[in-house]
Amino acid sequence: MHQSAGIMLNKPPGTAGRAKAVILGRKEQVGDICRLLENTFSHVTLAETPDELNITGPGKEPFRLAVMTDSFSEKLSIGLLDRVRQKFSPENMICLTRDIEDENEKKLRSAGLIFLGSYGTFFAFADNIINHTLKNGGSKTMKPDIKNAQNLEKRLRKRRGAGRSWKTSLALRTASSISEIAARAVELIVALGIIVPIFIPVLIIRLLTRLPAGKPVFAKRTVYGKEAQPITIRTFSGIDGRMANLPLFLELLTGRLALAGTAIRDWNGPVPDAEQAYLSMIKPGIISLWEIRSTSKIAHEGRQAIEWEYIFNKRPSYDLLLLLRALPAMLYSETSIEPEPVFRLLDLDIENITMQEAVSLMQAGLRDNRQQTICFVNPDCLNKMAGDRDYHEVLKSADRIFPDGIGLIIAGKLLHSPLKENINGTDMLPYLCRMAASEGHSIYLLGGKPGIAEAAAEKIQAEFGVAIAGTSDGYFNHETESSRIIDDVNRSGASILLVAFGAPLQEKWIHRHRSQLRPALLMGVGGLFDFYSGNIRRAPRWMREIGIEWIYRIMQEPGRMWKRYVIGNPLFLYRVMKWKLVTRSSNT
Ligand code: UDP
Repeated sequence: MHQSAGIMLNKPPGTAGRAKAVILGRKEQVGDICRLLENTFSHVTLAETPDELNITGPGKEPFRLAVMTDSFSEKLSIGLLDRVRQKFSPENMICLTRDIEDENEKKLRSAGLIFLGSYGTFFAFADNIINHTLKNGGSKTMKPDIKNAQNLEKRLRKRRGAGRSWKTSLALRTASSISEIAARAVELIVALGIIVPIFIPVLIIRLLTRLPAGKPVFAKRTVYGKEAQPITIRTFSGIDGRMANLPLFLELLTGRLALAGTAIRDWNGPVPDAEQAYLSMIKPGIISLWEIRSTSKIAHEGRQAIEWEYIFNKRPSYDLLLLLRALPAMLYSETSIEPEPVFRLLDLDIENITMQEAVSLMQAGLRDNRQQTICFVNPDCLNKMAGDRDYHEVLKSADRIFPDGIGLIIAGKLLHSPLKENINGTDMLPYLCRMAASEGHSIYLLGGKPGIAEAAAEKIQAEFGVAIAGTSDGYFNHETESSRIIDDVNRSGASILLVAFGAPLQEKWIHRHRSQLRPALLMGVGGLFDFYSGNIRRAPRWMREIGIEWIYRIMQEPGRMWKRYVIGNPLFLYRVMKWKLVTRSSNT
């Protein structure tokens, strides 16, 4: 019963609660969703274009839900999300899209959506999703019409199948059953391949050594199994690291755990909310995307978002790639050593915090209008620092230094001082921009070749909805033209200045002009604008997960990069080991 776009669709009084929802999308494409929501929400507002967003408003009743779809005339982005948030203040947001680029997905997910996925998945779980949005809003009286959702899903499936001959449909169904059987067969082969040659000998040794001493061989853990049921699993007690998990392969045989699945979570009573319930629809796995990302220290989006990403991508080929990624990621596997708040390396105090904590620290500094200089250090920076006393002094006087890249994570392991997260400028930018946008701060981009900062500014503004106060390229005479640039930065009113001249030039420039610069946050960001402008492509996420982003950079710019990494990486490890000896001898 919805009318033209931008118009509120009222339900007769008494048929539903007084909750409102807004849908962004083309009327023909989102009709089913409108009807579904109308069963639950008293008002459903439809906007087809950005102009129509402007003519509708929140009114007195709050919006419980905003559903953004890829049929809206503007591309789904963080900027759009922020505008919808400002306009309607919805309590929950959902994005529905058929295809999503890897990078855009990451950004959208980290923006606090409760659901991001395909139309099919949405309809399949619409009852849970809608229930969750209502529960979060505090109303217990409204019940979504589950039957309607199921019917819609059936119709949708039919429509998706439409045009396919029965032969094609049968072939597809057979292929999917075969791939499921093949996946289970692979699990059984892997389970036997580990149990017979590894688990059984280790078990015998453990039995012989621990039982006579009266020590337990296994430790029991109650965790969430499939469909959020509690299951008890066993690990070896008294062993550190991955060997302790060998008994989990028995659960692979029984089928209670999968080889690849959602992360194993300790049982904490019946599932608390619908979101957790979706996560539990998939069996927990010995290997999970969350575990891979957290062991390579790039789980910046947080556990829930990463689990969602896994669920939406799960299929046999994705699981197979996950297994391949898990093998090298094991090299960076966890130790039981507690992280120190500061990682001391080569006479520098490097912050050992998470990305969220780093952004919170910057936010606090901006609120107090306290000037802070921020540097990121990677192995290349620290190699340069070894032959450049000025750079070393500049780094020592910086307010905060963050560890950038897998080289620093490995250094942390070698020095038995594990790092919490890999904190680099490129991964930080989305979080920094969102914080800046919500606090009303603007950013000035300084550096890169002519045109690059402008191109990056356009992308950043559109993606994250943050104001860019100004841009300037990094190819000016630093002796004679710095004051002109500083004037421009100060006049722009920016609170955050990102300087991209590459290390150590950017850190030295910031240090030298710090007192003349008005922005409260001064940060050296290297090649960041090149990545965001699309001038240089960043390594795909799987390469970052296994710590080989540097190989991708060599492939892109072999002439400039080979020395930095091929010679630089071993040199850095040598310096770390030397530092280890120095600190050890000075401690004894
Ligand atoms: N650059 C600049 N001015 C200069 C030298 C370099 O703006 O005088 C820019 C260069 O265009 C590039 C960035 O600084 O965008 C350095 O990138 P690089 O990849 O070397 O930095 P990294 O992230 O590796 O430190």
